[in-house]
Amino acid sequence: MSFRVQSQVSLKPFNSFGVDVQARLFAEAHSDADVREALAYGLEHDVPVLVIGGGSNLLLTADVQALVLRMATRGIRLLSDDGNQVVIEAEAGEPWHPFVQHTLVQGLSGLENLSLIPGTVGAAPMQNIGAYGVEIKDVFAGLTALDRQTGELRDFTLAECNFAYRDSLFKQEPGRWLILRVRFTLNRTAHLHLEYGPVRQRLTSLGIDHPTPTDVSQAICSIRNEKLPDPAVLGNAGSFFKNPLVSATLVAQLKEQYPELVAYAQPDGQMKLAAGWLIERAGWKGFRDGDAGVHKLQALVLVNYGTATGLQLLNLAQRIQKDIAERFKVDLEMEPNRY
Ligand code: FAD
Ligand code: NAP
Repeated sequence: MSFRVQSQVSLKPFNSFGVDVQARLFAEAHSDADVREALAYGLEHDVPVLVIGGGSNLLLTADVQALVLRMATRGIRLLSDDGNQVVIEAEAGEPWHPFVQHTLVQGLSGLENLSLIPGTVGAAPMQNIGAYGVEIKDVFAGLTALDRQTGELRDFTLAECNFAYRDSLFKQEPGRWLILRVRFTLNRTAHLHLEYGPVRQRLTSLGIDHPTPTDVSQAICSIRNEKLPDPAVLGNAGSFFKNPLVSATLVAQLKEQYPELVAYAQPDGQMKLAAGWLIERAGWKGFRDGDAGVHKLQALVLVNYGTATGLQLLNLAQRIQKDIAERFKVDLEMEPNRY
């Protein structure tokens, strides 16, 4: 497929909030050569290049005065296999959930808890995607990225990625690294993570005592389908706020007023609060202002009922932040990337 740049393209189909803004220029990359061509085009025409994947972690607040480059590269390959441990590599444009399913069909364990997360393989390292007690750092074997400052390719090891809760080097250095392909270490012998309450409960209710990785994936898909809005039906970007990490002292103070406060101890002594609980307790769950709202079933998810603009969603998010800061003395950080 030849590389083609289009002018004035609506980004509505390319962001899961379904916000209708225009990209000044738009192109898709189906190969590394397309990526390089897009970057050269940007330099030649003095226009910034914004790389996107599935658009499921974006908040677009205005028309994008850039060349929006959607990663559409495909390919999955086995790099090594010792009979038990396997290193598998996928191109950045591979859709995430079908990739997870592909690994499960191959009898490989490691990605099952990350089932049904929208988006692409290439974006997954950006915020070290995580769900149900697993983050990609737990199965990460490396990635190859293009340094947009020098034009050179670089291979990253786990230690070099600075992965943390919903964070990475690639997020900390915005626009510098263009992730081309990602590698994962998976296993034929399953080491399942069932510590997240609802996962074990769901398996038990299905009568499954000795789950396979595919059972875990299916259980997680069913939980997610019940709780989270499908972006194809109701625009959203998943959790809109990160779960805040706070001191044990603040948690103790808050518990005096809110004994049922949900907080999880972290290895470093901090406590992780469930942002969704704070927002729900503050009365925002199900709130709607025009077409911008807070999901009825999960207060952490902001939704677009149809024609909300990015600025209206941002305004709602800021009202929630202010209210939570006043009530609980906790600062909520937005998770989606804002443009
Ligand atoms: P995009 O939204 O297109 O881009 C996100 C950021 O990455 C942007 O800054 C973009 O510039 C950059 N980027 C994209 N591709 C590349 C690349 N190849 N190289 C360099 N930069 C790039 N997240 C979780 O962590 N856990 C969840 O459980 C989860 N559940 C979700 C559920 C729903 C219903 C939705 C809508 C979202 C959820 N998310 C979750 C958020 C989102 O799906 C993930 O963050 C996902 O990895 C984003 O992928 P994407 O391809 O859509 O990235
Ligand atoms: P949930 O199960 O209702 O739990 C609420 C919060 O409590 C979660 O955010 C989770 O933190 C935390 N939590 C629950 N059990 C925990 C445990 N045993 N140990 C430590 N922390 C625990 O959450 P949910 O909204 O339905 O989401 C389920 C999972 O999918 C979560 O892991 C969540 O992060 C992930 N998810 C992420 C997004 C996104 O866009 N980022 C969207 C949907 C779902 P953590 O979030 O830190 O895990």
